[in-house]
Amino acid sequence: MEKPQRKRVKEYISTPAIYASPIQAQTMMDLTGKIQKLKKEKKAIILAHNYQRAEIQDIADYIGDSIELSRKAMQEKEAEIIVFCAVDFMAESAAILNPTKKVLLPTLGARCPMAQMLTIDEIRRSKTLHPKAPVILYVNTLAESKAECDVCCTSANAVEVINSLDAQTVLFGPDRNLAEYVAEKTGKTIIPLPEWGFCPTHLLFQPEDVIVLKQQHPQAVVMVHPECSGEMRKVADFVGSTSKMCHYAKDVDAKEFIVGTEEGILHRLRKENPNKKFYTAYEGAVCPNMKLTTLDRLYASLKEEKHLVKVPENVAVKARAALERMIQVN
Ligand code: SF4
Repeated sequence: MEKPQRKRVKEYISTPAIYASPIQAQTMMDLTGKIQKLKKEKKAIILAHNYQRAEIQDIADYIGDSIELSRKAMQEKEAEIIVFCAVDFMAESAAILNPTKKVLLPTLGARCPMAQMLTIDEIRRSKTLHPKAPVILYVNTLAESKAECDVCCTSANAVEVINSLDAQTVLFGPDRNLAEYVAEKTGKTIIPLPEWGFCPTHLLFQPEDVIVLKQQHPQAVVMVHPECSGEMRKVADFVGSTSKMCHYAKDVDAKEFIVGTEEGILHRLRKENPNKKFYTAYEGAVCPNMKLTTLDRLYASLKEEKHLVKVPENVAVKARAALERMIQVN
């Protein structure tokens, strides 16, 4: 039985026809060859998020979650161009952390709706109301917002970042579910910013589906992302970011897993663990923004060196400090 919430979220996402015209296998091979050739000629590196399409992950030099990709972008020395296959805020972070490189976002429309939910006005108003509380922002924010915060975090290190601060009360945004998760884990008072920020894709998961899947696969371990609801966390054996899920799936003795995060991660999990089985906790858990990056758009981006990600220097300086503080924590 589908809850009204999920119906509303599905309408909100209104997935564009992302799979409407699948690329033929031959075209895919041609494009892959052309991208590989251009990559060498232009000294480019391709970074891809765990939620990207399988063919994008397969052509990438490096696959990871936000913190892994941020580190990689910051440390990259050889390449002159970084093609960032993900969404807007991640490419911005790469441009901020490595300003000497050309950072390209293959699809301009690949924007994270959660990152748009927090405004600078809201951050400033909350700071006035809670002047002693540090502001910790999830990397899923735009550069202008990062420039207003004390330190950034990802879902992989949010607990460690908050514990590293000498403050009992913190302002935290924009994901409400992640805020509740870190409040549980740290025992600190977390004031969510905005009050109800969310990831539409992760709101699609329902515990009822997990219960049905558990009946079909009783030995399966349930892994969920902290952007999922508290109800989903309660039915999980493991709660963690996508990078933590990848480590957990490798290390734990289980052979079957029910996965509560965007479906793109299944490609990586299956490749890294060919003897284990992975089931999505909900078939429709697709981030349409992540899936906007296709091989033809990646090729066009590299060929024409579009769309160049630029962050104004006055914003970049402050946002860089917040990102670097995050990276220093772990
Ligand atoms: S999965 Fe959610 S948080 Fe991640 S990019 Fe998509 S909408 Fe944003």
